[in-house]
Amino acid sequence: MSSLRVGVIGGGQLARMMTPPAINLGISLNVLAEAEGSSAALATSQVGDYNKLDVVAEFAKTVDVITFDHEHVPLSVLEALEANGVSVQPPSKALAFAQNKLKMRERLGALGLPMPDWAEIHDADSLDSFIEAHGGVAILKTPIGGYDGKGVRVVSSASDAADWLSPEGLAKVGGHLLAEEKVNFTRELAQLSARTPNGDFRAWPLVQTTQQNGVCAEVLAPAPDASEETLERAAEIARGVADGLGVTGVLAVEMFETADGRLLINELAMRPHNSGHFSIEGSVTSQFEQHLRAVLDLPLGSTQATDAHAVMVNLLGVDDSNDFLPHYEAAMSAHPEAKIHTYGKGARAGRKMGHVTVVAGNAEWALAEARATAKILRGE
Ligand code: ADP
Repeated sequence: MSSLRVGVIGGGQLARMMTPPAINLGISLNVLAEAEGSSAALATSQVGDYNKLDVVAEFAKTVDVITFDHEHVPLSVLEALEANGVSVQPPSKALAFAQNKLKMRERLGALGLPMPDWAEIHDADSLDSFIEAHGGVAILKTPIGGYDGKGVRVVSSASDAADWLSPEGLAKVGGHLLAEEKVNFTRELAQLSARTPNGDFRAWPLVQTTQQNGVCAEVLAPAPDASEETLERAAEIARGVADGLGVTGVLAVEMFETADGRLLINELAMRPHNSGHFSIEGSVTSQFEQHLRAVLDLPLGSTQATDAHAVMVNLLGVDDSNDFLPHYEAAMSAHPEAKIHTYGKGARAGRKMGHVTVVAGNAEWALAEARATAKILRGE
């Protein structure tokens, strides 16, 4: 091979963070961004609408493989590319399950993988019976288009979701909703892994995630006090998903852990994921490098931890104008061990605008340092 060229659809922070390993490996990275000035504009990028086949087909001509920063490219566009011999990783048949939570639940069920009880909902009666059968409460989700907790609602009666159940509401999400049992979880976990088209597979250590207002706030790697058995089971579940759905590239499996130690699959992401940002410093191979290797069908790198613990704290936008850069001097001088990442995105309250990682031998210390650094960067 004289050159390796990866095309990423989507110009967000995930595409941006693929840039350093691409540079290190001499991979040319080309990004199809949705707008000028996107987070990934540091890479060679062009602006275009990923919903349009002609735009994406032109873009595909400039690279050896197409991959993604998000899951929103229409399947019809990807199927047309594949029919023309373009390498799309993960392939459309796998992405279909990441784009539609109902399809995902059906497939995971067929594979016998553990998850919350669920049902397809198409009217108020079916929702009310599901709620009644599950202790008077359920989690209702729009099967397509949700992210960061948008498209997820706790309901105790169909009247709590009258808008989603209206003909217009249903039409927006493909005609059906997904109801799930409300899991009484003790914590949320994520299992990150990568798989090549060849079937090679590697998993990172299981991590614990905490959400604030539906958005990931902190990640602890490895998940504190997880038993050997839990770690193994989580990696087996990820392997079952990756093989069973034909996923290539990085896969994040978000899970709930219950009081009796069960792991239930919540969500899947078929791309680098917020729960894996710790791996930039906390692992021999970061999720961004691994994703590039995987989609190019190169051998996967070691997922060995670089130290006993890694803690990642997200930098969420404070308001519509805040900027972390004016606080760099204070944060860097007080916390030289903290690794600061900002994504060059416009400020918006609650928006993922950067993160801080601390890798250390002591978990409590790492968490305190990462939190303290983030606090200074937020101007508190
Ligand atoms: P999104 O795709 O928007 O991230 P998720 O399906 O991950 O949505 O749900 C967002 C959050 O809602 C989860 O992180 C979890 O805290 C809560 N949640 C989702 N499904 C359930 C469930 N079945 N039981 C209990 N809590 C849930």
